[in-house]
Amino acid sequence: MKLISDYFGCMVFDDTVMKSMLSEDVYNTLKRTVKDGRSLNLSVANAVASAMKDWAISLGATHFTHWFQPMTGITAEKHDSFISPDKDGRVIMEFSGKELIRGETDASSFPSGGLRATFEARGYTAWDATSYAFIKDKVLCIPTAFCSYSGDALDKKTPLLRSMEAINRQAMRVLKLFGNEDVTSVKTTVGPEQEYFLIDKEMFTKRKDLVYTGRTLFGAAPPKSQELEGHYYGVIKPRVQAFMNDLNEELWKLGVLAKTEHNEAAPAQHELAPIFATTNIAADHNQLTMEIMQKIAKKHDMVCLLHEKPFKGVNGSGKHNNWSLSTNTGVNLLEPGDTPAENAQFLLFLCAVLKAVDDYQDLLRVSVATAGNDHRLGAHEAPPAVVSIFLGTELTEILEAIEKDVPYDVKEKELLRVGVHTMPKFPKDTTDRNRTSPFAFTGNKFEFRMLGSSASVSDPNTILNTAVAEILKQFADELEAANDFENAIHALIKRVITQHKRIVFNGNGYDDAWLAEAKKRGLLNLKKTPDALPHFVDEKNVTLFTAHKVYTEREMRSRLEILLQSYCNLINIEAQTMVEMAKKEILPAVSQYSKQLSDTVLSKKAVSNGFDCTYETDTLTEIVQLTASAHANVKALEKALVGAKKSVGAQTLSVYYRDKILPVMEKLRADADALEGLVSAEYWPMPTYGDLLFGI
Ligand code: ADP
Ligand code: MG
Repeated sequence: MKLISDYFGCMVFDDTVMKSMLSEDVYNTLKRTVKDGRSLNLSVANAVASAMKDWAISLGATHFTHWFQPMTGITAEKHDSFISPDKDGRVIMEFSGKELIRGETDASSFPSGGLRATFEARGYTAWDATSYAFIKDKVLCIPTAFCSYSGDALDKKTPLLRSMEAINRQAMRVLKLFGNEDVTSVKTTVGPEQEYFLIDKEMFTKRKDLVYTGRTLFGAAPPKSQELEGHYYGVIKPRVQAFMNDLNEELWKLGVLAKTEHNEAAPAQHELAPIFATTNIAADHNQLTMEIMQKIAKKHDMVCLLHEKPFKGVNGSGKHNNWSLSTNTGVNLLEPGDTPAENAQFLLFLCAVLKAVDDYQDLLRVSVATAGNDHRLGAHEAPPAVVSIFLGTELTEILEAIEKDVPYDVKEKELLRVGVHTMPKFPKDTTDRNRTSPFAFTGNKFEFRMLGSSASVSDPNTILNTAVAEILKQFADELEAANDFENAIHALIKRVITQHKRIVFNGNGYDDAWLAEAKKRGLLNLKKTPDALPHFVDEKNVTLFTAHKVYTEREMRSRLEILLQSYCNLINIEAQTMVEMAKKEILPAVSQYSKQLSDTVLSKKAVSNGFDCTYETDTLTEIVQLTASAHANVKALEKALVGAKKSVGAQTLSVYYRDKILPVMEKLRADADALEGLVSAEYWPMPTYGDLLFGI
């Protein structure tokens, strides 16, 4: 039997490989430059590239690629082979330091939101040496950032790395104040729990909606859905288990710490969670995970759906983003400590997150705004569109005691002084059970639960890191100037709790009463993507990102443009697909079946006028009405789509798609789904929800 420990990371050019293949000098220089975030000099780069090439070729690789994450949200790669002609007309395998650290690419077909003038369509990719190179499908992949020649970020990695620098800078200032002399850097950590659906490939290919859009645009609810709750944590079916085994093996080879797998709430829905990693690596690994899930599923004659809402009436898929901060000395800064000083430090970081989430609710909502995720948020299966924080009863009571200067423990009658007293212990387990909160403290990390399953984790983490960096900066400014650190920190924490406790909500986030309460508290409720996205460039947000050098204003505006545009494009494709399916498949099938019913009536009457034809005529009556309505809605949708061409600007267009296209799509779907309930299974032109959800 193969031991996991024998092959884990075997396709990764990791530290162990580097140590064994590089000279001590080169290895040390590489480590140092990576640590300091400087760029490699060419002779070191040449040595690393040569070792990387030898290693990759020994494992069967023939090509290399700069692997990057453009704004499409998926990864991009352009393969170059190692071959180079020698003077005898044969080939040798070559890979230079220059090719390792910097690649050039024609950027003109990637979304740039107007950042790239056509006269300089080239972009370049630069090695993110903190994320190891790896081999995938015989290709040496070098994780890279992607920028235009004028230095504008064209990808999701660049801003993420910048945000990690920003939070490192500010967290270090705060840690210095607490006398942490041994700490030299702070990194954020992320563990993304990935949900997905698996369905049979043959059925998938028979559904144009799934093929074109990744979600079903039609489909009546099956008699059985998820109401029995038998699927959650249920026994995994053999075919799915075989898929998971293959997936794990492939991920482990790539050094991805795939840890937990289980069935999710909906039929055919599953989850995979890795052990957390440094954020940029976690982002790379999540991107790889999504890609490999789809590849392995195909191998097993299945299709992996990563869409946020593949099936109406069935829970959609999300991606819980577990987030914390950790020092290079291995201290989790969101872990309550044992001494008064450790506790004060913990409370300060906790309050920084509290204030960041309250001050930048809009940005967190923006970071998860997509057409797909709009179907989930607030639909009683995922958190609402209102951002709030769950802290759990104990921690909330501790904060209240500090705010109000009352004893936390009535028996002891002692007031809780930050920096003087240790915090009362609170049980960790009780913090984790409220699944309805968008942003929950789970003992030693926060879990941001609004992300959609197909999203890159880079955007939300870029925002989270930058927002927390800003608050840490404000804290550091204030505390560095204070004469009496102990009093200053107590006063600061007290003030933050008083001013931002409105963001704390420990109750049921799915409850409508919460929405009313949230409104009273003045919290934002940005319901749909077109409501949320424009806030990205609000003045306070531009100030935030530019101050911390995470985005320039130009980059922000171009990103907004891309996000709005893709919202519109997506709905446009969905609407076009609906029109095509209705006209070419559903309505013709219904018409055929109507003929069958009328023929039956005629032939029955031919035998005897007294024969009962109630079934046929009743059904036919309903079908005729619904067909007329469906036909009218197809026409209305076609007209609305033509009307979209008149909207000027991505923002106006996004509102148009939300208000004028989506509602008509809903109406057409309602007609078609009702027809599905009337038409003989033999005539229905595509696999049903029952087939799709219970087909494996
Ligand atoms: P759950 O009860 O939700 O299963 P777990 O403790 O198992 O909670 O963690 C879920 C995810 O959170 C895992 O991916 C895990 O690696 C991640 N996680 C745990 N600690 C941290 C941390 N300090 N920073 C980031 N993610 C973390
Ligand atoms: Mg979780």
